[in-house]
Amino acid sequence: MSKILIIGAGGVASVAIHKCCQNSSVFTDICIASRTLAKCNTIKASCEARFGAGKKGGTKISTCTVNADDVHDLIRVINEYKPDLVMHLALPYQDLTIMDACLTCRVSYLDTANYEPLDTAKFEYKWQWAYREKFKKAGLTAILGCGFDPGVTQVWSAYAQKHYFDEINYIDIMDCNGGDHGYPFATNFSPEINIREVSANGRYFDASVPNGWIETKPMEIKYTRDFKGVGIKDMYLMYHEELESLAKNIKGLKRARFFMTFGQSYLTHLKCLENVGMTSIKPVKFQGHEIVPLQFLSAVLPDPASLGPRTKGKTHIGVLFQGTKNKKPVKYYVYNICDHQECYHEVGSQAISYTTGVPAMIGAMMYLEGHWNKPGVYTAEEFDPDPFMEALNKWGLPWVEDFNPEPVDAKK
Ligand code: NDP
Repeated sequence: MSKILIIGAGGVASVAIHKCCQNSSVFTDICIASRTLAKCNTIKASCEARFGAGKKGGTKISTCTVNADDVHDLIRVINEYKPDLVMHLALPYQDLTIMDACLTCRVSYLDTANYEPLDTAKFEYKWQWAYREKFKKAGLTAILGCGFDPGVTQVWSAYAQKHYFDEINYIDIMDCNGGDHGYPFATNFSPEINIREVSANGRYFDASVPNGWIETKPMEIKYTRDFKGVGIKDMYLMYHEELESLAKNIKGLKRARFFMTFGQSYLTHLKCLENVGMTSIKPVKFQGHEIVPLQFLSAVLPDPASLGPRTKGKTHIGVLFQGTKNKKPVKYYVYNICDHQECYHEVGSQAISYTTGVPAMIGAMMYLEGHWNKPGVYTAEEFDPDPFMEALNKWGLPWVEDFNPEPVDAKK
C-alpha cells in the first residue's frame, strides 16, 4: 500500500505512471498533479485502458492541477493527498520549490534532473546539495536525478565499483539515439531543457588540472563509434550533470566524460536557430509583451510526448569504465538498447521518455521497499546498485556487459 504524488504530465511522467500501473502491487495509489489537467486525465485514461488502473487490483489514480513554481500551492496539494513520496517529473526549474514543500509537509522526494535557474542556463548540484542537512534532520530522503542519464549511468558506476574494480580511473558515458521521428527538427524531451543543455559549452572532469574541469566549445570534441543495435554515429562531448557527482563519489577517478550523438540535420537547424537568436534565454519585447525566444521556439516545436507513433529505430546508452582490480587493468562496458516502437506499443511513448520514466518508477520502488531510503539528499551512485540493477532487467531496460570494449578515442 503506497501513495505517490507525481508532479508533471509530460513524456517522462506518462511513462513513469504507466510503469507504476504495471507494478500495481507496489504502487497502489497515485495522484497526477500538473499545470494542465487535461494531460493528467489523458494519462489516467490510457493507464485504465492498458493496465486496468482503477479496477480491482489495479492502481487507483486521481488527478489535479498544481502550479509547481508556487510553494503554497504545492503544500496545499501535498497536504490534501498525503503521499509517501513526491515524484517530481515536471521541469528542473521547480526542483527547489518542490523540495521546500516536501520539507514543510515532511515527505520524501525524487526527481530526474538537477536544479537549473530559469534565467541562467547552468545546472549544478550545489543548490540541491544545500538541502542535505535539512532532509537529514527531518528524516526524509531526496533522490536526485533518477532517470537514465543522470540516473542509471550512476547506478552502473556504483555497480562497476562494487563488483569489478578496486579503482575506477576513467568513465565515458555515451548516449546514442538512433531514432528517426521524420521531422527536420524536434527534441525527444522538453525542447527548452534540451536546447539549453546542447548549446552550452562542453566540460569534462580531469583530475590533472588545478580546478578539475576542462571546458570546451559546444560540439568541439567529436568521435565516431559503432553502437551495437544502431550503427555508426558521430558523438560529441557535452557537459552533463552526473559528471559532477561522479567526480566526488568515485574514488581514484582521473577523468569522466559524457558524449551524445547528433545527426547533421539536428546540428544544422540548431546552428541556424542560434545564429538568428531563437535559442536565447534573454527576454525580448514583442508586440508590447516580453517573451523569451527559447520559450517561444519550444511552443512551436513538436511536443516530445507526440513523437511516440512516429519515432522508429533504437537508442543505445552505455558507460565504459577503465581502472584496476587486484593491480591488473580492467575495461568494462555496460549498455542498454531500447527500441522506440516497442516502447510506443507498450506505454504509448518513444524510447527517450521510456528510458527516463522506467528508472524513475524503479527509484520510487527502491524508496518504498526500503532499499534506498536513508535520510539526506543523494544521487543514484550513493545507494546500493544491486536491487536497482535487478529491477532494470525486470521492468524493461535490460543491460548487457562487454569486457573487451573498443576505446572511445579509436575513431576521430
Ligand atoms: P515535458 O516538457 O514533456 O513535460 C513537463 C511537464 O511538466 C508538463 O506536463 C508541464 O505542464 C509540467 N510543468 C511545467 N511547468 C510546470 C509548473 N510550473 N507546474 C506544474 N507543472 C508544470 O518534459 P519531459 O517529460 O520530457 O521531461 C521531464 C523531466 O525529465 C525534465 O526535468 C527533464 O529535464 C527530465 N529528463 C531527464 C532525463 C534523464 O535521463 N535523467 C532524460 C529526459 C528528461 P504542461 O503540460 O502544462 O506544459
